[in-house]
Amino acid sequence: MSPDEFRELGHHLVNRIADFLGSLPGRPVAPGESRDAVKALLGNRPLPERGEAAGPLLDRAADLLFDHSTFNGHPRFYGFITSSAAPLGALADLLAAAVNPNVGAWDLSPIASEIEAQTVSWIAELIGYPGDAGGLLVSGGNMANFVCFLAGVRARGGAGLRTDGLRGEPFRLYASKETHTWLEKAADLFGLGTDAISWIETDGAQRLRVDALLSAIETDRRAGKKPLLVVGTAGSVSTGAIDPLREVAGIARKNDLWFHVDGAYGGFAAALPDAPEDLKAIALADSVAVDPHKWLYAPLEAGCALVREAGALRKTFRFTPPYYPTDEKLNYHEHGMQNSRGFRALKVWLALQDVGREGYVEMIGDDIRLSKEMFRTVAETDALEPLTQALSIATFRYVPKDLTPGSPAVDRVLDELNAEILVRMQTGGEAFVSKAIVSGKLALRACIVNFRTSLEDVRALPALVVRLGREADRARRDAR
Ligand SMILES: *Cc1c(COP(=O)(O)O)cnc(C)c1O
Repeated sequence: MSPDEFRELGHHLVNRIADFLGSLPGRPVAPGESRDAVKALLGNRPLPERGEAAGPLLDRAADLLFDHSTFNGHPRFYGFITSSAAPLGALADLLAAAVNPNVGAWDLSPIASEIEAQTVSWIAELIGYPGDAGGLLVSGGNMANFVCFLAGVRARGGAGLRTDGLRGEPFRLYASKETHTWLEKAADLFGLGTDAISWIETDGAQRLRVDALLSAIETDRRAGKKPLLVVGTAGSVSTGAIDPLREVAGIARKNDLWFHVDGAYGGFAAALPDAPEDLKAIALADSVAVDPHKWLYAPLEAGCALVREAGALRKTFRFTPPYYPTDEKLNYHEHGMQNSRGFRALKVWLALQDVGREGYVEMIGDDIRLSKEMFRTVAETDALEPLTQALSIATFRYVPKDLTPGSPAVDRVLDELNAEILVRMQTGGEAFVSKAIVSGKLALRACIVNFRTSLEDVRALPALVVRLGREADRARRDAR
């Protein structure tokens, strides 16, 4: 592709993307098509033998994506914790891909490596963590948690761990039952086994119970086991609950445990001047995972691992192969799991400057206010039962007037009804929520990590749920 051809195709594509972004609110949130229908769009073609012109290929790819995607950038997308992507991030990714630095080694990416270091330090500053912490950009929250987890296990597991392996040491890990499933993956993948996890009970607000944590550690110690690491969550994935991080930090210190905080979702809310005390206690953690592709609005993928003791990452990940730079420069392959690495930091670095601390405080604060307003509207709506609201997550469910919760038979019907509302909403295209189990109840869960969502959008959701609930209820009765 010649530079002139690139210019022409690029201008055309950027024009189409700009139109697409402008058209987002008017599009269905999700296409609601079956897997067979989506597969059929691609046809059952063999690998192309011959090349085709790039222009028509790009146009066709854009058509497919614009018309058959679930849009997390839509103002009424409230599913999971998947944010709208800032358009600036798309331009940043284009620039990063065009220059294509390999941010695995400093000599391969001099300016990109330094930009990544500055980005990591700004992220730390934004959440009140030491600016000289170690860290790096990774693909997302899971990977950021893995990196921190490994650093913690290496730091507290004893000197021989890297060469000797675990050797059946009875290490113990502690985390609340609301902890994201990355922890099971980590315990499994890194050889401790999922039985090494003590799942700590939560209180009525889905927060880790400190008394239960203390007694679990005590019991394990008495049984000759080795408490190693405790995880606190800053914004749980189901309900946005923030564990009592300050108290957990104290317990970790007293018991010589590595204290890791999973702040993939809520970590950035620590930037708010009125952040809860427990969120601010993120500053006390030995390591923190945050997710710029959530509340910093970076396009997928961008996670970030932060480790207080900057040298801990190299102690965990450094090997010195003859074919790769292992000098004392900033060689990111020695700080994490990847070898060749893309330039994820650029989109985050640009956004942090484009928006600034003030801008993020305002946007994150807006999402939390919108969620509270949604919860308030739910509470005022007949046939909706409000369940939880924390950070920017509200959970609630549809309870028609003639059903009184409390008996197993009715509870089952309510779960089925709300599951059916979920299906209808996710395929209907008017809005998109996901689900959570709250105190054993299947709840609809709306999470706002979206700079495009307005008051009008959040006020419209409860009425939509009631309408879909009535339809689902009618269908259920007709089926009987
Ligand atoms: C999103 C999330 C994760 C996983 O992050 P990914 O970016 O999806 O890998 C882990 N923990 C919490 C609390 C999260 O919200």
